[in-house]
Amino acid sequence: MARHDPHSYADLAQGRIRHIVFRLEADFAQRQLRGTARYRLDMPARGPFDLDTRDLDVRSVSSSGRAVRFALGEADPILGSRLRLTDLAGADEFTIGFTASAEARALQWLTPAQTSGGRHPFLFTQCQPHHARTIFPCQDSPSVRFTFEADLKVPSPLVGAMAGAPAGRTPADGATVFRFTMPQPIPSYLFALAAGEFTSRDLGPRSRVYAEPDLIDAAAWEFAQIEDMLAEAEKLYGPYPWERYDMLVLPPSFPYGGMENARLTFLTPTMIVGDRSLTNLLAHELAHSWTGNLVTNATWEDFWLNEGWTTYAERRILGAIEGEDSAMLRAATGRNTMLRAIKNFGWKADPTRLKFSQAGIDPESVVSYVPYEKGYSFLVRLERIVGRPAFDAFTRKYIAEHRFQTITTEAFIGLLRRDLPQVFGQVDVQAWLFDPGFPADAPPFESSLIDDVSNRLFDYQEGRLPRREDVAAWATAQTYLFLQYLPRALPVDDCRALEAALALDRTRVPQFQSQFLEIAVRSGYRRCLPRAEALITTVGRMFIIVPVFQAMAQTEWSRPLARPLLEKVRLRHHPITVLAMEKVLLQQGL
Ligand SMILES: [Zn+2]
Repeated sequence: MARHDPHSYADLAQGRIRHIVFRLEADFAQRQLRGTARYRLDMPARGPFDLDTRDLDVRSVSSSGRAVRFALGEADPILGSRLRLTDLAGADEFTIGFTASAEARALQWLTPAQTSGGRHPFLFTQCQPHHARTIFPCQDSPSVRFTFEADLKVPSPLVGAMAGAPAGRTPADGATVFRFTMPQPIPSYLFALAAGEFTSRDLGPRSRVYAEPDLIDAAAWEFAQIEDMLAEAEKLYGPYPWERYDMLVLPPSFPYGGMENARLTFLTPTMIVGDRSLTNLLAHELAHSWTGNLVTNATWEDFWLNEGWTTYAERRILGAIEGEDSAMLRAATGRNTMLRAIKNFGWKADPTRLKFSQAGIDPESVVSYVPYEKGYSFLVRLERIVGRPAFDAFTRKYIAEHRFQTITTEAFIGLLRRDLPQVFGQVDVQAWLFDPGFPADAPPFESSLIDDVSNRLFDYQEGRLPRREDVAAWATAQTYLFLQYLPRALPVDDCRALEAALALDRTRVPQFQSQFLEIAVRSGYRRCLPRAEALITTVGRMFIIVPVFQAMAQTEWSRPLARPLLEKVRLRHHPITVLAMEKVLLQQGL
């Protein structure tokens, strides 16, 4: 048995899944996703064949009409249960019947009350990093890519969506069967489906947004720049490789900002703020079409190759559209977020390394902004040594050579040695990639927009609070940077004054609410409590609510309110978000 990925039972020497034909049915009454999947392998199975599963009821396995013997191993808390098919006897195809449990980690079943429209239930998936195995048996490692065809049956009048190409629909007895194909091979973590009441709007020749009917106008306006972003990305990295780039706006309980499911990015509704100021997230998910989805990290230990590269590409796209000053401003806010994460982990902690062994570690428990922003800083460091034209040529070659493949950090170092050997004399590549903390030779970010914020912060340290007219013209990311640099606890009078100057009592930008409410709670500015509670109740995005929740749990006056608040939102939020909140309470002994 040769396991190449600490988070999968897959043994690549046994062969790889190449294609899957799904027949899936979403049963909202039982909260079950049932189905069959017919798998085709890249070669006939010579011995046993191992698949990943978790909390999955495997009903049957057959091959060419013959029952195949199978054994489900003991459940490991991180890996789940190995499903071993024992007598495929030279077959290169088999069919498995399965039912995903109501508690499957990849699935979120929402009641009508948890949606924006409030009329119909909603279902969506989140498979990254290793949750596809809770929906269907698979080699759940980024190293295995497959194409697929799928039927998805959902009760009328719901609409079914999948990250794939729509291929028609058929009414079926109080339900509708939606058909999809995925002609480009994807790793299992990009498998995605959703069902709910949503409608769509074309945004360009190859882009469409899907959202609940009451959100569609706002979503179409907010994301209208997508074709411009596609054009800029293509200038940098070559033709868009997935034919279409569509987007699905999820209900507020989606735990992330976005998920780059191939051909159909999932997005949080919290980025719809009415001024297109948070579309950096859209640039990020779009950039994943090249860095991540096309050239994929070999395992979750190499996650920085997905996220560092994508953060870099995101800021190049935004730099082309908004100017370099703006891109550097966003880079500065990103670095602050990361430095806080490093401080929370501890400067010597493993999760502050870009690559470290994750055997026995749940990849979800070590996710942070470190792979994004430390990875970004490393790439900018390299770019500034060799110059942008040479670095762009290197990037295009990296992408062209690894299309629809995976890459490890070690193989990436090999590429650097081959194509950019001059960097090794000037930067300690090993230290950047494998040492903890944050290197002293990190590239600085300079921008007049940042200087403006620094001046106001200096003024505040000197006792001069900003007036409304000083900051009214600030870009969203400037206000955000200012909030990031403020001490976490302030005099209550200052909280009140800053709230007025920055219009924080009526902002729609969830990042502002998150930053300010954290400060307000820690400062004892109690008037903000209803807003803090409302934010944590209505928004499921972890990055937004966990810092506020943590402040509540850590501050004397609000401590007793934290546990009851979690109990109130437990059924409303995604299990991943609830887990993160539980962790906060555990750390505080609550
Ligand atoms: Zn990303």
